[in-house]
Amino acid sequence: MSSEVERSGGAEPVNSDEDLKKLEADFRNLQEEAQTLINDRAHLESEVRNLKKRANRLDEEVKSMRNPPLIIGTLQDVLDSDRAIVRSSNGTVFQVSLNQRIDPSKLQPGTRVALNQDTLAIIEVLHDAWDPMVSGAEMVEKPEVTYGEVAGLDEQIEAVREAIELPLTSPELFAKVGIQAPKGILLVGPPGCGKTLLAKAVANFTDATFIRMVGSELAQKYIGEGGRMVRELFSLAKEKSPSIIFLDEIDAIGAKRLDGSTSGDREVQRTLMQLLAELDGFDSLENVKIIAATNRPDILDDALLRPGRFDRVIEIPMPDEKARSAILSLHIKKMNTKRINVQRIVELTEGYSGAELKATCVEAGMFAIREKRDSIAQSDIIGAVKRINSKRSKGGISSTPEALYG
Ligand code: ATP
Repeated sequence: MSSEVERSGGAEPVNSDEDLKKLEADFRNLQEEAQTLINDRAHLESEVRNLKKRANRLDEEVKSMRNPPLIIGTLQDVLDSDRAIVRSSNGTVFQVSLNQRIDPSKLQPGTRVALNQDTLAIIEVLHDAWDPMVSGAEMVEKPEVTYGEVAGLDEQIEAVREAIELPLTSPELFAKVGIQAPKGILLVGPPGCGKTLLAKAVANFTDATFIRMVGSELAQKYIGEGGRMVRELFSLAKEKSPSIIFLDEIDAIGAKRLDGSTSGDREVQRTLMQLLAELDGFDSLENVKIIAATNRPDILDDALLRPGRFDRVIEIPMPDEKARSAILSLHIKKMNTKRINVQRIVELTEGYSGAELKATCVEAGMFAIREKRDSIAQSDIIGAVKRINSKRSKGGISSTPEALYG
């Protein structure tokens, strides 16, 4: 008995030393785990915020789709505090009732107003002129993106240069040969693979103004308003020429016409007709080119693809192995890195879009920043790939790095 006590008493200091080390190691591990959980929580919170914002936006969209489209008119005269005379955009003159919530001082003859389609009551006072910035258009005098920043799309760059750049820089070639230059091209492919980037690069090379408009912005709730926006978009492009109109998500206004459509659908079709009229109405050698983009080419109306409209379709596919290597190398080159094996990352990122590859690089940079390092290691990129994979499997991945980081 006493020898047992002695034995265990003699061994105790060794054990407690080991225990202490083990405890310290456990503590460090737990601390790291806690830090990772805190980081994850911050990430998830920002993702929840983003998703809430998106859900609100979609709610608004659904609400506006449910409402019948409004009629646009110009106020001719205010008869008294309840009634006014309005000329609608198709020329009919109505006597309408005034909405008491609208400030009477805003109701001057010549003001543009929106009327309820059924009751003809004035619903709201509209801006005098379409302001492209308010309506979701983006205009840049000369974007900063160059062809060098578009990786893995060499063939597509060549095709775009021939169809858009050449007519802008050397229109005389087409005139001499006696052929019509293309007016526009259609870029087709999944989100985040470089369609916008490519359109911006052509605008940069040709010193053209870049005007981006999203199709859903043109699918307006006001009768006649979508068509008016299309007209003004083209007249803005002519005023700022040389210019490139980048019409993103063209499927929002260019989908095949269906029978039995709602009044909202009919309004979208009117907007499409206006777009077709604008496309047909300008000369192919005018300094305005149109690049449209969609990831749903299957639903597009054939009328858009006729000769003289979007007669060239260029596919911008998901990056294959070679393209992923080019995109990763391009983004990695801009970062401070240590011994990165790009080929290994290419293998791990099968099925990633260009935007997701960029997001991987940004995420890897965040790993380094969190650990207070100033260079990115291979393990950071592998960690970033794992994180992005887990977001993809939860269905929460977005193709833009902005959306990833809120
Ligand atoms: P969407 O259909 O969602 O508008 P998109 O195809 O227009 O997508 P971009 O906006 O061009 O995609 O790409 C988003 C970002 O992803 C770019 O700003 C760029 O950082 C990166 N990216 C995408 N494709 C490429 C590429 N081929 N080369 C380099 N970077 C790319």
